[in-house]
Amino acid sequence: MRVNFRRARGTANTEAALAAALERDGRTLRGTSAPTGDVTCYSLNVANAPALIAEMAGAGCITIAGGPYASGCWEEVARAADYIVVGEGERTLPRLLDAIEAGSTAPIPGTATAAGGFVPTDHAVRLDAYPPFSHRKGYIECSRGCPHACAYCQTPRLFPGGMRHRSIDACVEAARALPDVRFVTPNAFAYGSDGRTPRFEKVRRLLEALGRENARIWFGTFPSEVRPEFVTDEALELVREVCANARLHFGFQSASDRVLAALGRGHSVADGLAAVDRVLDHGFVPVVDLILGFPFETDDEQEATLALAEYLAGRGCRVHAHRFTPLPGTPLAKHPARALVPTARRRLGRLALDGRLTGSLSDLG
Ligand code: SF4
Repeated sequence: MRVNFRRARGTANTEAALAAALERDGRTLRGTSAPTGDVTCYSLNVANAPALIAEMAGAGCITIAGGPYASGCWEEVARAADYIVVGEGERTLPRLLDAIEAGSTAPIPGTATAAGGFVPTDHAVRLDAYPPFSHRKGYIECSRGCPHACAYCQTPRLFPGGMRHRSIDACVEAARALPDVRFVTPNAFAYGSDGRTPRFEKVRRLLEALGRENARIWFGTFPSEVRPEFVTDEALELVREVCANARLHFGFQSASDRVLAALGRGHSVADGLAAVDRVLDHGFVPVVDLILGFPFETDDEQEATLALAEYLAGRGCRVHAHRFTPLPGTPLAKHPARALVPTARRRLGRLALDGRLTGSLSDLG
């Protein structure tokens, strides 16, 4: 059975991980730019979903959709796709392919179809059981899941049950295949911990083991980030010692403690400002995520976040501003973004012209 993976923006790491998982099962996953072969697999996110759902609806092969969008609203996606993998796919996708090949109609845990509905999963993936990639290289997912439950975020819904980690040995083995080692994790400084209480000795052991390999290490910067209350002198000294990054990326999101509490962020504005000071003190450039347009944000709170963006830019930070997007499967899925205040585009545009605002302004409406 020929199994393909539909390449699209933002799906390269998923392809790398699934290809490695299928390889263990004796299968090859081939990249494609259109549905073809016997089965084409899709990973849907909020940006690529509209075009790919339309494509699946007209596909001439079996289609399997997964990823955060498909997991968050499988009922919608099942109108176009033959099967949905809900949640993590390393074990579920091979099982589903085996069943398709065998002509079995037995329900596969962790999948959904339009006719059969959703069958709850029966496992949580142990990261060490699957390499993060094989021939097609990707990032090393060192941790998965998050004990926090920020109302806009899909991560804790996609991977319930808190935080899991790839062992140091498994991370080191994967790193040997890469000249530049980057990680996927919701909070790099939470490596080895429950995600709430740091265990920096684990981070230290990981980074020191990686430091003995002949590779450049990027930790706490793209594509991983950290949480502000985990930004300590000890963590920053460690990154300075072992890693190549000059930037440290963390989520701050809002200048309003009321908004942060309503989101369930689990940190305060003061925590964010303290992290900025510390990152600057250690000679890194802070890259700070802010979100504008939360449904329950007032004009004054949005103005305060804009003022925070300007303050951070003035202190040498890179500001990464997004407009709030309601993501399927989250508590805010059915709450559209509120309008931006009239000055928002002009103020953020000025920061972008100064090279202090990263990303695109197009999602700021
Ligand atoms: S801390 Fe990050 S990964 Fe965890 S729920 Fe909040 S936004 Fe998502």
